[in-house]
Amino acid sequence: MQDLDAIGELLQHPQTILITTHQNPDADAMGSSLGLAAYLKKRGHRVTVVTPTDYPQSLHWLAGNSDVVVFEERVRTAVTQLVDEADLLFCLDFSSLDRIRELGALIRQARGRKILIDHHLEPESFADLSLWDPTAAATAQLIFRLIVGLGHKDMIDVPMAECLYAGLMTDTGSFRHGSTTGDVHRMAADLLDLHIDVSSIHRRIYDNTSLDKLRMLGYVLNEKLVVVPEYKFAYITLSAEELKRFRSKTGDTEGLVNYALSVEGVVMAAILIDRGEEIRISFRSVGEFSVRELASAHFNGGGHRNAAGGRSRLSLAETEDWLLSVVPRYQQQLAETV
Ligand code: 5GP
Ligand code: MN
Repeated sequence: MQDLDAIGELLQHPQTILITTHQNPDADAMGSSLGLAAYLKKRGHRVTVVTPTDYPQSLHWLAGNSDVVVFEERVRTAVTQLVDEADLLFCLDFSSLDRIRELGALIRQARGRKILIDHHLEPESFADLSLWDPTAAATAQLIFRLIVGLGHKDMIDVPMAECLYAGLMTDTGSFRHGSTTGDVHRMAADLLDLHIDVSSIHRRIYDNTSLDKLRMLGYVLNEKLVVVPEYKFAYITLSAEELKRFRSKTGDTEGLVNYALSVEGVVMAAILIDRGEEIRISFRSVGEFSVRELASAHFNGGGHRNAAGGRSRLSLAETEDWLLSVVPRYQQQLAETV
């Protein structure tokens, strides 16, 4: 835990603190941000969570949600003021300010000290202090380590524990990804000792799907899932028109790519989504095959070995063609992946 002591030192005195996280925040982004916010407020700091975009309704139950400021043009002045006032700016669950766009540009020139807490590979070196561990299963795990490391485990209450559990549960795929270690389970056990209702948390996050999203899933599985057996590859494309047809909201496309990866024999999957200003691509893989390498070499992106993303300025059809021209270069590696 690189700068734990230095961070502990800064938190000895009341500070004005801004916490931010990546765009389209998921449960780890929001759970770790709101869990940290609750802890820092309990210690007497002035804390605001600012997200670069909105996030799914299924996360709105997290403690402190109603105080979150979602960055958009009409609150630019207020957010600029928050950034200017902040003594400390915690950046959670992302490693590069470029990935949070306009908010990133504001934060880059902030006077306050920037503290990165993250588990992604290769952080950009914008932070003054960091708790960075790419082997951590979730940023929520690093927040837990921070609180415990500062000797405040007893300050973790039920709302905080629910936030941290939500992040840990989702980033480990409900405790089944390779990142699920003994430490992950020990943290979960500590949170469970506070009598949080894990089945309710699971239900609030996963069994909370809008009918529009389910109908889109049905459509995608029936009409849009393409399997390319010779490369053990499956992919999905979604046009802007299709998103509109199913009244798709933030987070509604989350997880679709996993259906492509779940096809028997498939070891790499992608989803290409037309977001208007660009095509966003999510990649998933199993085993040794690195979609991070593929995303950074051909799609101006990055991420983890088995979960990565990228973008393209071509049309959806052209991006699909480009992807289909890139994948055969990996045929040997894909063939060897099980
Ligand atoms: P997702 O497909 O869920 O959006 O992203 C999967 C993983 O890849 C996440 O850990 C995310 O941070 C990372 N990722 C997605 N897009 C990009 C990108 O454009 N650049 C980098 N460096 N990482 C990305
Ligand atoms: Mn995370």
